Amino acid sequence: MSKQKGNIGVTTENIFPIIKKFLYSDHEIFLRELISNAVDATQKLKTYASVGEFKSELGDLTIQVKLDKKTITISDKGVGMTAEEIEKYINQIAFSSANDFLDKYKNDANSIIGHFGLGFYSSFMVSKKVEIITKSFKDDAIAMKWSCDGSPEYTLEETIKYDRGTDIILYIDDENQDFLEKSRIEGLLKKYCRFLPVPIAFGKKSEWKDGKSVETEEDNIINETNPLWTRKPAELTDEDYKKFYQDLYPFSEEPLFWIHLNVDYPFNLTGILYFPKIKNNIELQRNKIQLYCNQVYVTDSVEGIVPEFLTLLHGVIDSPDIPLNVSRSYLQSDSNVKKISSHITKKVADKLEELFKNERIQFEEKWDSLSLFVEYGMLTDEKFYERAAKFALLRNIQKKYFTFEEYKMLIESNQTDKDGNLIYLYTSNKEEQHSYIAAAESKGYDVLLMDGQLDVHFVGRLEQKFEKSRFVRVDSDVIENIIKKSDNKEVTLSEEERNALVDTFKAAIPAIEKTDFIVGFEHLGENANPITITQNEFMRRMTEMSAMQGGFNFYGEMPTSYNVTVNLDFPAVKKVQEDKENSGGIVKQMVDLALLSSGLLKGQALSDFVKRNIEMI
Ligand code: ADP
Ligand code: MG
Repeated sequence: MSKQKGNIGVTTENIFPIIKKFLYSDHEIFLRELISNAVDATQKLKTYASVGEFKSELGDLTIQVKLDKKTITISDKGVGMTAEEIEKYINQIAFSSANDFLDKYKNDANSIIGHFGLGFYSSFMVSKKVEIITKSFKDDAIAMKWSCDGSPEYTLEETIKYDRGTDIILYIDDENQDFLEKSRIEGLLKKYCRFLPVPIAFGKKSEWKDGKSVETEEDNIINETNPLWTRKPAELTDEDYKKFYQDLYPFSEEPLFWIHLNVDYPFNLTGILYFPKIKNNIELQRNKIQLYCNQVYVTDSVEGIVPEFLTLLHGVIDSPDIPLNVSRSYLQSDSNVKKISSHITKKVADKLEELFKNERIQFEEKWDSLSLFVEYGMLTDEKFYERAAKFALLRNIQKKYFTFEEYKMLIESNQTDKDGNLIYLYTSNKEEQHSYIAAAESKGYDVLLMDGQLDVHFVGRLEQKFEKSRFVRVDSDVIENIIKKSDNKEVTLSEEERNALVDTFKAAIPAIEKTDFIVGFEHLGENANPITITQNEFMRRMTEMSAMQGGFNFYGEMPTSYNVTVNLDFPAVKKVQEDKENSGGIVKQMVDLALLSSGLLKGQALSDFVKRNIEMI
C-alpha cells in the first residue's frame, strides 16, 4: 500500500480548533482516554485468546507510558488495527450536526468526548501532531502508520513494527508542555488509572545505590489490577476492607462498616461503600465516593447518580452502565442511573436493618456516628424513611436508645396530654437546659437528647409522620403547659391588677439587645418555680431554620421573644401581689434566678447579681 492521504470524515470544516478551544478545562482526560483504549484493545485480545480466535502467545501485556523531551507515547500489546480498521474507527468519526451539538455542549467537555466517540481525538487537546503506529493481531497483518497534524488531513502508510499492538505518539504542543513533566503524568496516572485491569508501567523502578537514585530493569507498575471491589466478598477479610479504605483515604478514621455491592442484572454494578464516622459537619464529608467505569476512574462527584444523602458515604462504585461521559442533567434522567440509585438506597437500608436486627448492641454503639446520615436520608428520601423508621433510634438523656415504636410505648401513658396528643420532650443541650429537664423529670417524664446538626428539621419530619404527636423542647414553656393534663386553674386578675403586676416584674428585667420579654401569669402550685422563662417552640424553630439558610430573613431580623411566666401560687409571689411598693428586692431576685436558669443572665446584670448575693452572706 502506498502512502494515502485523506480527510477525516467530519462534516464541519475543522474540528480540531474546536476541540482545543472548548475542551480546555478538561485537557488532562486525554491520558485517561488513550490508556482506556489501550486497555480495551488488550482485553479484546484476551477475549479472542479465550475463545480460540487468537492462538499465539499473549506474552507480557503491560501497557507502557513513556515520556520524552517532546512526546508522550502510550504502547499496548492489544489487538492493533489493520488499515481498514483505521479507516473505519479513526478516520470516519461519526459526527452529525456538529454545530448544533457544539452549541449545546460547549461548556461540558466530558459530554462531547465519549458520547460522540471522540475519545481518541481528545489527544489533539494537547498535541500538535499525533501518530498511530499499529499492527493487528491478525495473521499476516501489515503494520501501519497514521499521522495527523491537527488539520482534518491525515496520512496513512505502511511501516515496520515487529510487535503486535499499538503505539500512540503525542507531539505535545507549546501550551501544554506541563504534560511532559514526570510528576504531572504520575499524578494523572494515579488519579485515572490506579485500578485499571491491565498492568500499566510508567518508566522503570528506581532504587537507592551509593547515595543516589538509579533506574532498575523492573517496570514501574502504577496500578492495582484486581482492586478489592472486583473480588469475591467470601475471599475477603475485615482487614482487607479496612486496608483498602486506608489506601483510598490515607489517615482517615476507621469506617463503621461497609457494603460490598455486586449486581449483574438488570444492570451491572460493583463497588464497596463505607460508612464513615460522621461528626457534626455534613459538608466536610461529601464527594468521597469515586466513580469508575470498568475500573477507569471517572469522577468523585457523584451527585445525581446516588441520592443526596448517600454522597456522605465513602468508597467506590463501578458500573459500565452509567453513561459517564454525558452532562449531569442527562444523567439524572437516565433510567439506568435511577435504577442504580434506588438499588444502592435499598442495599444501604438492608445493611443497616441487618445490623440492627443481629447486633443491636453494636448498632447502638455506632448510632451516634451514624445518626446524622440516617436522619439526612429520612429527611430527603421517602423510600428510605419508610425503611429506616424500623431501625432508626431515639436517644434519651440517660443515653438509652429506643426505636420509634419502643419509645412511643415508653412515654404513651405518662406523656399524653388532655387532648390526646403524645408529647415528645427533648433537649438540645443537657447542661444549658438543666433546670427545665429537672422540672420535666420531677413529673416522671422522659427527655430525648436531640443535639444533631439536622435535628431541627428532623423533629419537624417526625411530627409529620407520627400521628397526634408533637415534639417540644423542654424550655419552650412551663412543663405544666407543655403537657397539659387538665385545665389550669383560671387566673382571675383584674385588668388593673394585671397591668400593675406586669409593670412590677418588667421593671426587674434587664434590657437585652434584640430581646423582648412578655410577662404572663399562671397558677402552677406552691412547689413549682416562682418564675420560668421560656421560648415558644414554633418561634424558636423558625429562627433556627432561617439561621441555617443564612442571608437576610424575616425571622432572623425579628427580636427574640421570651415568655416570663409568673407562678401566682408561689408564696413570695403572693406577697408581692399584696405589697408591690416594698417588694422590689424580692422581685429582682426571683427574676435574676429565672434568667440564670435559662442562661440569659449575662454581663453587668450577672455581676450585679453576684455582688448583691455576696453582700447578703
Ligand atoms: P471508543 O473508545 O469510545 O470506541 P475512541 O475514539 O476512543 O472511541 O476510539 C475509537 C476506536 O479506535 C476504538 O473503538 C478502537 O476500535 C480503535 N482504537 C483506538 N485506540 C486503539 C488501540 N490502542 N488499539 C486498537 N484499537 C484502538
Ligand atoms: Mg475510547
